[in-house]
Amino acid sequence: MVGLRLGRGFADRVSEQRATDSRRQTRRKRLLAADIETTPESLDHPVDNAPVRALQHQNLTIEGYSRAAVQSYWRIPELKVGFDLGVQPWSFMTTPTWFVSHTHLDHIAALPVYVARRRMMKMEPPTIYLPAEAVDGVEALLRAFQRLDRGRMPAELIGLKPGDEVELSRELVVKAFATRHTIPSLGYLVWERRKKLKPEYHALTGDQIRDLRLSGVEVSAELRIPKVAYLGDTSPPGLDAFDETYRAQVLILELTFVAPNERASVIHKYGHTHLDDLIARADRFENEVIIASHFSTRLHPDQIQRIVEKRLPESLKGRVKIWL
Ligand SMILES: [Zn+2]
Ligand SMILES: [Zn+2]
Repeated sequence: MVGLRLGRGFADRVSEQRATDSRRQTRRKRLLAADIETTPESLDHPVDNAPVRALQHQNLTIEGYSRAAVQSYWRIPELKVGFDLGVQPWSFMTTPTWFVSHTHLDHIAALPVYVARRRMMKMEPPTIYLPAEAVDGVEALLRAFQRLDRGRMPAELIGLKPGDEVELSRELVVKAFATRHTIPSLGYLVWERRKKLKPEYHALTGDQIRDLRLSGVEVSAELRIPKVAYLGDTSPPGLDAFDETYRAQVLILELTFVAPNERASVIHKYGHTHLDDLIARADRFENEVIIASHFSTRLHPDQIQRIVEKRLPESLKGRVKIWL
């Protein structure tokens, strides 16, 4: 009896155990399913979905990647702005403001992806500046994806014309300037804006300056420091359109073609720049760093590197970064 009871008891305990296990498993499965369904995707975990090169220059980090007809995307985290969205590296999602140079696919294909991801991550809708001619088309594109993906596509699209200025903050102003490509296109210059005491007040004491200010006198003048210029795709007139481009601390330009046998007339007709164009302007660049990018895929990266390094004049050698 005892044995039987024990036996029964053992059998009971085993079956109880099995029931508990299966309940536990069901609960775990349910929990896992709930995790997958409700846990928001994390930005803390790296997702390596696109190549990103980086360069530190003073207090700016320039991150990006760019090859002609492949994909172009750039951002400067410290300024909280990005340029072009050919692809959106996962880490670029936190950048809330973008300037699109033109609507060729290698510069804009990831725009709907980026907008949808920001929404999925419960981030503020982004602000996207782009050539005014492209706004209707991009709006229609987002609407089409809203239907296809069945998710909202919240974004503020703002069209710009050459010469327009955008005040991003008290410290940052962006100017759009004309570039020359095969479709409407813009380059962008980011200024840092500072207030500087006007020279006529330099001899005054702090109290005197304060009194003047309180009496309504504007004692300071605006000082603008060109921080970053981004050209997107352009033939040389885009480089020459706006003098400040040559003075930006960091200039990001396209250098699609470098081989000696490529004809300038054809390259310019298709709205691109050749290494010869850069060399012809060597004396004009006052930039601290010039990032040469958007190289064609016709040549192997090693060939591009060799050609550019061999032909660059001394005055540019240390400053030109070959972005491959
Ligand atoms: Zn391109
Ligand atoms: Zn293009």
